[in-house]
Amino acid sequence: MSFSADLLAWYDRCARALPWRGERDPYRIWLSEIMLQQTQAETVKGYYARFLARFPTVEKLAGADEQDVLKLWEGLGYYSRARNLHAAARIVAREHRGIFPTDAEGLKKLPGVGPYAANAIASIAYGEPVPALDGNQARVLSRILAWEDIIKTPFDLRSPALTLISQERPGDYNQALMDLGAAICTPRRPGCARCPVAAHCRAHAEDAVLEYPRRPAPVAKKQQDWTILLMRVDGKLLVRQRPKGLLGGLYEFVAISGHFDEAGLADALTGLGFEGVRLLRPLPDSKHVFTHLVWRMRGWLAGCDAAPEGYVAVAQADLNALPFPSALRVYREIAAEAPIASDS
Ligand code: SF4
Repeated sequence: MSFSADLLAWYDRCARALPWRGERDPYRIWLSEIMLQQTQAETVKGYYARFLARFPTVEKLAGADEQDVLKLWEGLGYYSRARNLHAAARIVAREHRGIFPTDAEGLKKLPGVGPYAANAIASIAYGEPVPALDGNQARVLSRILAWEDIIKTPFDLRSPALTLISQERPGDYNQALMDLGAAICTPRRPGCARCPVAAHCRAHAEDAVLEYPRRPAPVAKKQQDWTILLMRVDGKLLVRQRPKGLLGGLYEFVAISGHFDEAGLADALTGLGFEGVRLLRPLPDSKHVFTHLVWRMRGWLAGCDAAPEGYVAVAQADLNALPFPSALRVYREIAAEAPIASDS
């Protein structure tokens, strides 16, 4: 049997039971594919169900307030996905009368739909034979083919992937490769002994599985130091909405670039326009790792009499209604519990 036939036979027996499996509605497929980017299927399940309960159609999502969309997305990370999701829903609802483009080229024109998602959606919803090349699929294919070239992006494998894909069941083929990469052909401990396509795998035949995919030398992540302050004023906490860019649109506490000693921090806050600053006690350090960046955070509980423009004072009970990034989870949890009504 061919590679794709063996793969699909295994998929028919062992496909993961996921809520979006068997779905033909492009709205639901699109939603699941955007959520699954950089996120485990197990994590996505709950978000997928809550989104569909709240926004059962693309028109409902298009008509939502962005803040509500971000709030529902909270905890999934990579928030530009949520903003793009909302923008794309508006385009589909208003410019395409609620009908999604019916091929990968058209889908790619929607905000947040890159080549991977476009191909995944087009193959699953419309049966277009295009490979959904993400890191998982690239890893599996690089091993099957013992692909010697360095793979900078998964789409470096587009040409050979096109020769392998099932013409009859491209959507199932792509999902089968996703499952194989997630369950068997894992990065460090591939289960070759139970692999349904081992007979087609050149890396396995050469006993060189872990040498693929060939990767470029790793680039060190940029490190950034931040001081995060739970700053209270009049018994409330100061927050502000982040501008466009990383985590844009989400809320944050007072955040200053750099780490300081106590006197230096008080000076820095005064320099930024905070009046009557009182540093009350240090809070735990925290670290958050983004794709290309690491935030090293030190925390403080503090009080002040007045804040510079851009901040709003929010009652502790109202914090839950605001979307915060996971990067600030530690301080968000402290903010929910810390006594903030007074400087005691
Ligand atoms: S035989 Fe091993 S390396 Fe090859 S596809 Fe299967 S799990 Fe991956």
